[in-house]
Amino acid sequence: MSSPSILETPIEYLKGVGPQKADLLKKELKIFTFGDLLFHYPFRYVDRSKVYKIKEIDGDMPFVQVLGTIKNLRQAGHGRSKRLIATLTDDSGSVELVWFKGVQFLTRSVKAGLQYLVFGKPNEYRGSYNIPHPEMTVVTGSLNESATGLQAVYPSSEKLKKRGLDTKGLLKLMNALFDKVRKSDLPEILPIDVLDRYQFPDRFTALVNVHLPKENLLLKKSIARLKFEEFFLIQLEVLMLKQNKYSKSQGFVFKEVGALFNTFYHDHLSFELTSAQKKVLKEIRRDTLSAKQMNRLLQGDVGSGKTIVSFMLMILAIDNGFQACIMAPTEILAQQHYETISEYCQKLGVKAQLLTGSIKGADRKTIFKGLKTGYINIIVGTHALLEDKVVFENLGVAIIDEQHRFGVAQRARLWKKNHIPPHILVMTATPIPRTLAMTVYGDLDVSVIDELPPGRKPIETKHWFDKNRLKLNGFLKEQIANGRQVYIVYPLIEESEKMDYKDLMDGYNSIQRAFPSPDYRISIVHGRMKSEDKEMEMKRFAEGQTQIMVATTVIEVGVNVPNASVMVIESAERFGLAQLHQLRGRVGRGADQSYCILMTSYKLSEDSRKRLGIMVETNDGFKIAEADLELRGPGDLKGTQQSGVLNLRIAHLIKDSRWLKEARSVASMILKKDPYLQKTENMGLRKHLEASRSDYIEWSEIS
Ligand code: ADP
Ligand code: MG
Repeated sequence: MSSPSILETPIEYLKGVGPQKADLLKKELKIFTFGDLLFHYPFRYVDRSKVYKIKEIDGDMPFVQVLGTIKNLRQAGHGRSKRLIATLTDDSGSVELVWFKGVQFLTRSVKAGLQYLVFGKPNEYRGSYNIPHPEMTVVTGSLNESATGLQAVYPSSEKLKKRGLDTKGLLKLMNALFDKVRKSDLPEILPIDVLDRYQFPDRFTALVNVHLPKENLLLKKSIARLKFEEFFLIQLEVLMLKQNKYSKSQGFVFKEVGALFNTFYHDHLSFELTSAQKKVLKEIRRDTLSAKQMNRLLQGDVGSGKTIVSFMLMILAIDNGFQACIMAPTEILAQQHYETISEYCQKLGVKAQLLTGSIKGADRKTIFKGLKTGYINIIVGTHALLEDKVVFENLGVAIIDEQHRFGVAQRARLWKKNHIPPHILVMTATPIPRTLAMTVYGDLDVSVIDELPPGRKPIETKHWFDKNRLKLNGFLKEQIANGRQVYIVYPLIEESEKMDYKDLMDGYNSIQRAFPSPDYRISIVHGRMKSEDKEMEMKRFAEGQTQIMVATTVIEVGVNVPNASVMVIESAERFGLAQLHQLRGRVGRGADQSYCILMTSYKLSEDSRKRLGIMVETNDGFKIAEADLELRGPGDLKGTQQSGVLNLRIAHLIKDSRWLKEARSVASMILKKDPYLQKTENMGLRKHLEASRSDYIEWSEIS
């Protein structure tokens, strides 16, 4: 028996982690154990031996370090906007340092007249730069002792910073961690000849250096090693899965294309399927005849017509004596699916039901009963479908819409809803470039709808600066006068929830002024509203009772209002590409020319400029997905949460594709010689895979 690894020690046992910090580490960063902290990687490094002149400060710098003397220290503002401002001066100029929190304390501790080494992120304010909440070190002796060379930088958020879990705080924890974790706690897992071939440092050395780097070359090698390792472990799992394919799950055979399917196809389908839709249906048909469980990912841009394909799969199941379910990430989306589907169902005499969190009591019980007895043929729902109480008589197909919103574990639960696992179709509108999907998922079957239904006019996308607001309002009025409806979307990013809420409300007020009632009717939907109220507002807009929908990104997924023809995105620079594309997909669903207008201020970072440029240039979701992967780093906090299934922590799918290829070829070579990893040289690897097997199983059940 081996003793439990120190890496499994709960994080609260680490020196410097009290109950509050532990709580936050768990909630915000999913760090529960020493091991989780160890694999919480920095997302960049700064060279803190470099000291800039104040006049060299530039808004594109992620961080800057300057040395100067505090000339002036004063408080400004009242109440919540109270702040401390210090003027820091060197021989090239001066810059303001600003604090919004801890003002009393800082007023006492920061001293005018002293020389400080100041480190922080420059921020533009009214045409000049300031540095909010900088790190400050008094410099009395020579600078060499204060400037500390290479330093890791971790992703952070306001909540984390408030509790001292900024980079400085995390580095303290890393130091404490490496006081406890020894080389013997992190045995090597890569075969020795792989280490030799690429001149990789051992596992322990790589991990120490990635957090507490001493020197550039070793840091580079350490990062390369960890990237390789990350890809290598995934490739190994994928290839082993493939290798064991003969034991792949048994699945139902949908023998016949029956009466329902044929009636629907010939009598009720009001349009011709696109050839891409037909191709996907053929692929599904082949899978469901194979006696193996289907596990298919259906990628298709917003509006490409995935829903109808999934509906036809459902009636195929019913024709063969099975039930079907479709799960959506939000109530609104589930509701919309239900409306579309039940319209078709009524014509066919098929029994469909909706199950969401807000259906309660007796109604809920009736649904449970209907599912168990098989009275209900199709159930449309949210997460509520995952509950243990949801038991089917004979579930043949489970469809999951907008895959990226569901966690892996949740999907696995659907898989278990039948004694023989149901066929699974996962639908997503945020495409993974096909070649990469094949490489990385390996075993997963991928279908693509790569054409839009005919007659759609491509959405025109424009990027306007804030000063064009009058022009914007004029344009919106014109559209509304023509009977169209308009979305105006504001960012909502958790990091600064309060400020976003204020922006939204300010925006709403000025929209109300520019579009006065009774001529104009405005809906508003945001995260702080009760879900019934949200639904109500969405409904009013969908029914055309209001003409303008002001919202945060709650409308991001799936809503279908064909009469809406303009999507205005405020502070568009704050959205990621995938999100912008999803939002834009809310318009262009009807016969009219549609527009997407990206509003920003003048001052934009290089990356934002690129993102907006891509949006203006193309409507192609696949191009956007590629560009998105390229622009986004793996460690960026928001990026990680959005990237879904893969959960890469350090490697970048596109930028590190070289390591992906190397890792795949090494993994396949190893398995060729030693398919079950039984040779001595692969012992470390096998032990590691076995230790992480629980993740592995869940992951593999999906793909
Ligand atoms: P997705 O879920 O892929 O974003 P939907 O399935 O919601 O797209 O389809 C968008 C709209 O296009 C729906 O109103 C649907 O009825 C319509 N549609 C789907 N397929 C076709 C087709 N082949 N021809 C015309 N309209 C179609
Ligand atoms: Mg959809």
